[in-house]
Amino acid sequence: MILPDQTELELPEGATGLDAARAIGPKLAEQAVLVRTDGRVQDLRLPLEDGQPVRFLTTRDKDDPDALSVLRHSSAHLLAEAVRRLYPGVKVAIGPPIENGFYYDFDFPEPIREEDLERIEAEIGRELEEGRAWSREEISREEAKARFEAEGEPYKVELVETAEGDISLYTQGDFTDLCRGPHLQDSKPIKALKLTGLAGAYWRGDSTKPQLTRIYGTAFYSKQDLDAHLERLEEARKRDHRVLGQRLDLFHLSEHSPGSPFWHPNGMVVWNELEDLRRRENLARGYSEVKTPLLYDVDTYVTSGHYENYRDNMFFVTSKESTERQFALKPMNCPGHMLLFGSDLRSYRDLPLRFAESSTLHRDELAGTLHGLLRVRHVTQDDAHIFCTREQIEEEIFGCLDFASYLYALFGMEARFELSTRPEKKVGTDEEWDFTEAALAAALGRREIEYVVMPGEGAFYGPKIDLHMTDVLGRSWQMGTIQLDAIMPQRFGLTYQGADNIEHTPYVVHRALLGSLERFIGILIEHYGGAFPFWLAPVQVRVLPVGEAHLEPALRIVAPLREAGHRVDVGQPTETIGKRIRQAELDKIPFVVVYGDRESAESLAIRERGGGQSQESLAEFAARLATLAA
Ligand SMILES: [Zn+2]
Ligand SMILES: [Zn+2]
Repeated sequence: MILPDQTELELPEGATGLDAARAIGPKLAEQAVLVRTDGRVQDLRLPLEDGQPVRFLTTRDKDDPDALSVLRHSSAHLLAEAVRRLYPGVKVAIGPPIENGFYYDFDFPEPIREEDLERIEAEIGRELEEGRAWSREEISREEAKARFEAEGEPYKVELVETAEGDISLYTQGDFTDLCRGPHLQDSKPIKALKLTGLAGAYWRGDSTKPQLTRIYGTAFYSKQDLDAHLERLEEARKRDHRVLGQRLDLFHLSEHSPGSPFWHPNGMVVWNELEDLRRRENLARGYSEVKTPLLYDVDTYVTSGHYENYRDNMFFVTSKESTERQFALKPMNCPGHMLLFGSDLRSYRDLPLRFAESSTLHRDELAGTLHGLLRVRHVTQDDAHIFCTREQIEEEIFGCLDFASYLYALFGMEARFELSTRPEKKVGTDEEWDFTEAALAAALGRREIEYVVMPGEGAFYGPKIDLHMTDVLGRSWQMGTIQLDAIMPQRFGLTYQGADNIEHTPYVVHRALLGSLERFIGILIEHYGGAFPFWLAPVQVRVLPVGEAHLEPALRIVAPLREAGHRVDVGQPTETIGKRIRQAELDKIPFVVVYGDRESAESLAIRERGGGQSQESLAEFAARLATLAA
């Protein structure tokens, strides 16, 4: 095997990661938690291959996502062990690590409550005190099935039946789990563990299957890291977009149409501002706005490949005229844009052709996975498809990256880019992939963007760039994607006439930069804690007449501000002025103008969100707002 510093380590055949760590030094062997090799992770107990490049992750890699994952996955097993001891008759389902923690799903004989978590946490505490070590074994499918049947674990039996590849088990204490791993050597590195919540979850995310109880938790390599995390969590709870969305009267969700937000006037302001931004920038960057149907016959999706690959997420519709001809609501805009391109003869002189559309898409997400605005069935992407020649790919990708960077900076979020390259199962020659991957990398380089390469993570039809943003709480969100595609235009038989008078197939860049507007607004609400910047704020200025007598003169300053294009409302004097000022703070309104005996158009009392106060004339105030709106 080969170490990160390129030195080679000679080991006997079949030596494991742990053997290698021991050969390097006892300290490393003690602190090692995982082997990382070519971006994959591997259990320390597994044999290494000859010439395999290897990096050891240790307890010192306390912020590394893979190192945290193995710690948390092991913690999930400790949770299952504790629950089984405390609740005889409980059935265990699955317990993976997730971002920021882990969970385990259980089928309890009697429902448990939030208060019970303390007891379970104490039991895990005892396990940690005693110490646990994990052992791994590989057994046959039949053996595993018999074993879980004997233990009365029907969920595990089902998992064994549907599992792909070899079956492995991990045991710690008196608990054995069906698990691929990897796991820690023992529980010593788990320095801080906390159970964070309880939720219902359907078995396999399917609402027709039994509902299980999901226990969430998190774990860290140090107590300080856990404390910092809990603080961030508390802040995130305060900013929950579902709570703020209601309090700020932005939107609501209803069982009448699950996963499809109802936008209230305030929310619609934010929506339209983002739409305006999208339109303005698309225009400036040479995109053409188009509009394509919501409903297509199923043949269209057969051609596009969505029927084969995405059918489970589509809503099907029938017409009263024909039962043979089935329709479906579009889950993506691509088929419509392909048909639009194919509706006319195209020449190389027409390219690049950039079609932009933000129409409504429907995706049949499972009810159990819906989550506020973050996971919806009614999706509105800031979508576009760029039809271009091979030579134009780099320039077009550059344009998308430039657009994305502009947008993310506008919202004060840090952007992170990932370049996903050819997967094992792919179409097209290696030369072709060499060319397209190099074009994407060149565009990233030219835009001076640092990025991470995700080997093998591209779609089978082309490489892609994933765009992530980090919000003020340090949470990373996958936003848009820039995807190169040579296949869909072929499937639709699209061509353009080249300078050589021969018909060529265009390339297509699928790109959405903010992702879905629904989800993006959800993220923005949490990122800003509901205190939108001036240009996005549903109400930008609230005028508060102190008493009835001030209502009329106060209204006289409203009109010119509205004419200047600002969103201004008036807080009627039905409550005390103190109460109304407090309400404006809760409504997170950027500017409040209090109008009493001493105020006039020459001298207004302005209160800024966040505490600033000033005396300004109407003209001065209007001039200030004009600079903020720009
Ligand atoms: Zn596991
Ligand atoms: Zn597309």
